[in-house]
Amino acid sequence: MSKSLSRQLLSGFGLSLVIAGMATLGINYRTVQIDLEHQGQKRAQSIARSLEFATEGLLEFRNLSILQRMVQNFATLPAITEVAIVAPDGKTIVHNESFNTPPPYAVLHPEMGATLEKSANTGMEAHLRTKLQQREVIVYVVPFTSRLFSEGGKRQVVVVVIDLQESQGDAWRIFLISTITMLIGMIAILAFMVLALQKSVLRPIQKINQAILDSENTGNVDLPQNLPDHEISFLAHTLIRALRQVQEYERFKQEELKNINIDLENFSAALEQKVAERTRELSLSNYALEQAKDAALAANRAKTAFFANMSHELRTPLHAVLGFTELMLYDEETPPHICEHLHIIQRSGEHLLTLINSVLEIAKIESGKQTIDRSCFHLNEMLHTVYEMLEQRAVQKGLNLRFELAPNLYSIVNTDEMKLKQILLNLLTNAIKFTPSGEVILRINCDHNDGQNSLRCEVTDTGIGIEPENLTRIFEGFFQSDLGRKSQEGSGLGLAISQQFVRLLGGEIHVVSTPGQGTTFYFSIQVEVESNECQSSLLDNGIEIDDLPSLPTLYAVQKLTAVRILLAEDNIMNQNVTLKMLTRLGYMADVASNGIEVLKALCHKRYDIILMDMQMPIMDGLTAAMRIHQDWRTEERPIIIALTANVMAQEQNQHISHGIIADYLTKPINMTGLQNVLRQFTEDSVNHDENVLPQKVYQKQA
Ligand code: ADP
Repeated sequence: MSKSLSRQLLSGFGLSLVIAGMATLGINYRTVQIDLEHQGQKRAQSIARSLEFATEGLLEFRNLSILQRMVQNFATLPAITEVAIVAPDGKTIVHNESFNTPPPYAVLHPEMGATLEKSANTGMEAHLRTKLQQREVIVYVVPFTSRLFSEGGKRQVVVVVIDLQESQGDAWRIFLISTITMLIGMIAILAFMVLALQKSVLRPIQKINQAILDSENTGNVDLPQNLPDHEISFLAHTLIRALRQVQEYERFKQEELKNINIDLENFSAALEQKVAERTRELSLSNYALEQAKDAALAANRAKTAFFANMSHELRTPLHAVLGFTELMLYDEETPPHICEHLHIIQRSGEHLLTLINSVLEIAKIESGKQTIDRSCFHLNEMLHTVYEMLEQRAVQKGLNLRFELAPNLYSIVNTDEMKLKQILLNLLTNAIKFTPSGEVILRINCDHNDGQNSLRCEVTDTGIGIEPENLTRIFEGFFQSDLGRKSQEGSGLGLAISQQFVRLLGGEIHVVSTPGQGTTFYFSIQVEVESNECQSSLLDNGIEIDDLPSLPTLYAVQKLTAVRILLAEDNIMNQNVTLKMLTRLGYMADVASNGIEVLKALCHKRYDIILMDMQMPIMDGLTAAMRIHQDWRTEERPIIIALTANVMAQEQNQHISHGIIADYLTKPINMTGLQNVLRQFTEDSVNHDENVLPQKVYQKQA
């Protein structure tokens, strides 16, 4: 920094000095030039004066030779090359070249003619720079002052020619000497300035700088010694004062920073403690959440178990109801009108069964396990069933129940029959329930768009309608209007299930209603129509598409077969009904009430098939089945067909795949199902030519 400053200052000074020197030299040169001219002029004048004086004295003698010698003498003076006296008429009186009769001067030097003329005429001195014999000269023309030498107003003049180069030699010497002197002076001044700059500025600045640098280590800044008593010293004082203030401020700031750091550390410690507390709380709440989740899972498991048990409890009595109904229907002695009532009991029982399945379905929906169970079925047949189930109720209320089916309605469709039936039953039951008078209509149309077949179903009534504010709520689970609650039918789940089912079948249910005038529910679902497979499977079994089921065909009593069956069932009524069904189908069976009795019976007699109820006291059916699987040799082991009222049992497939159980029959059992399962395992012993039951589509129960 200091170096660059001194360099800058010195180069500034140096440059200024050079410029000043150059200017001085220029001026000097010019001065020398002017001085040279003046000297020449003065010499010319003094020569002229001398010659005028001499001429005056010699005039009367006309002795030109003395003048001639004087002129020649003058011409020998340094740098003077030519001296002449010229008369007013232009004749050359004398000339240093000692001409006897020199020619007129204008003839000798024509270039000087005009200057001579002018000076002679005006009496004014004149000079002229010119070249004579290749040499640079100044020609001075000086007129005589005395009028003695004038003729007709014209003056006699002296011409002095001075050689410029010769006279300049001195001037140049002087110029060179003065230039060198000046350069030395300049260098001396520069050196002096450098020294002065060093002493007064740079060194003090270095000292101040060092003092400031030292202060960074010591923390104290002291004024350097021996500072010159000028601006630098004042500057140093001010600087050091400012520096001390800065240091003071820094110390204060550091102190403050230290305090802030301490505060921050305290705050951070407090924060860490808080975070630790929060983490503890969080892990506690996580633990609570975990517990809540476990509780929810347990509740869900309990709910699932509840539904499974409820299903079992309802199915068990239904087994007796439906079983005896079926047996009575197949009894030849049952009169036809009783058969008709029994048929309604059977349908209602089946509907109850469907409802049980629906409740289970709701549980499945809620647990996200809902599935679509597609199959091919006769649409007409299903609708007929629905109509039959509702007809009596509508008649009782004096309502006109009408099904308007499109003429081109599909005969056989493939979709989830149970769900579609459930939706229609829900909507129609509601329509009948909430319609005091008038009619309830089910309209079904089919549509074919973009290669997709769809069914559009519409249930419309002339009932009480739904208030606009309730329209959005009716699909919520357990929502019921006052009237719905008072009717003590339903649970408020019907529409919620219907909506979920419609969505599962690929549609959306809508409602429009005018209070006091009626309500219309409508939806469209996608169906597959008349697939070849379905057609043939139905047609092969001998059912005409347009055949509507009539009264059940009476079953003939079958002769006994040699198949040895053990029925394991704890419920007396169910024992009874199943035994009667078996007898009707031509089988003989012994009975056991629990698993232990089964094992005991096996020790006394060999059985081909065991119909084993899964839920029995003392030892349940599954344990007994596992014991048999374990203890009996394969060839002696009876075939075990499980009877279960629990459709949610997940292990069924697992046990079948492990070979413990051959097949399942879900309660309530009907004769068709029972016969079909038994036929699978009694192929050799039963005479198939004499079918005891009419051929129906066999659909293995879930
Ligand atoms: P539930 O019929 O068991 O009460 P739903 O879910 O089937 O339950 O119906 C819920 C409510 O929707 C009913 O309580 C009733 O208020 C209203 N609702 C359903 N269908 C109709 C209808 N056709 N006319 C008038 N109100 C209806």
